[in-house]
Amino acid sequence: MNHKSGAILVLSGPSGSGKSSLLAEVINDIGECYFSISTTTRPIRKGEVNGVHYHFVDEEEFKKDIDEDQFLEYAFVHGNYYGTSIKPVKKALKEGKLVLFDIDVQGNTIVTNRLGDITTSVFISSPTLSELKKRLEARSTDAKEVIDRRVKMARKEIQRISEYDYLIVNDDLKKAAKILRIIAIAARVKVSDNEINEFIQTWEDID
Ligand code: ADP
Ligand code: 5GP
Repeated sequence: MNHKSGAILVLSGPSGSGKSSLLAEVINDIGECYFSISTTTRPIRKGEVNGVHYHFVDEEEFKKDIDEDQFLEYAFVHGNYYGTSIKPVKKALKEGKLVLFDIDVQGNTIVTNRLGDITTSVFISSPTLSELKKRLEARSTDAKEVIDRRVKMARKEIQRISEYDYLIVNDDLKKAAKILRIIAIAARVKVSDNEINEFIQTWEDID
């Protein structure tokens, strides 16, 4: 079945579990897609580019966007605001694209409640907590206290795996990417109620 409208693939998981690495690994193999660039108040990290990894704004600007109803969802994560702007997502969905979200567990709850019939969700985890800590330290983009806060958060986030359609344990990156490609393909053919009705109407082409 060819879908006219797009679909959403949510990736969540503790910071350092490998969401960005996995996305980079599969992004060129999963067809027409749009990576939703979130807006955040967190400080920019070394190597990050404004407008590519995030739209970096101050708290005043973020709150203005909240007041103007610009976000599909937003959350306060690790002491900073993060949000998904609704406009580019709507546009990409209209164009039939697979929209990729890297958002936290709170964001997934909102997206699933609002757009559950076109959303597939994946939780990405490191094999163990100690491996997560090791990776965050090796990434060396965050100060020690930031890493400690993220590790503490990870213990809470991991309790919510059951809210997701799939779990990928990112032990071997290549193997994990292979599974993510398969899930991305499946996410595209998830049918919404609207699409089912449309399909049945066009399918019934004889009396
Ligand atoms: P996230 O986007 O979830 O915060 P990253 O993709 O930045 O996580 O990964 C965190 C760190 O772990 C990075 O330095 C990355 O290179 C490394 N990493 C990711 N996946 C693996 C893996 N399967 N094995 C070893 N290191 C990994
Ligand atoms: P980081 O600071 O490591 O880039 O991201 C921290 C956390 O914020 C991650 O769990 C990431 O998935 C989440 N995040 C990033 N953008 C958004 C967003 O727009 N909305 C929500 N709810 N979470 C986000």
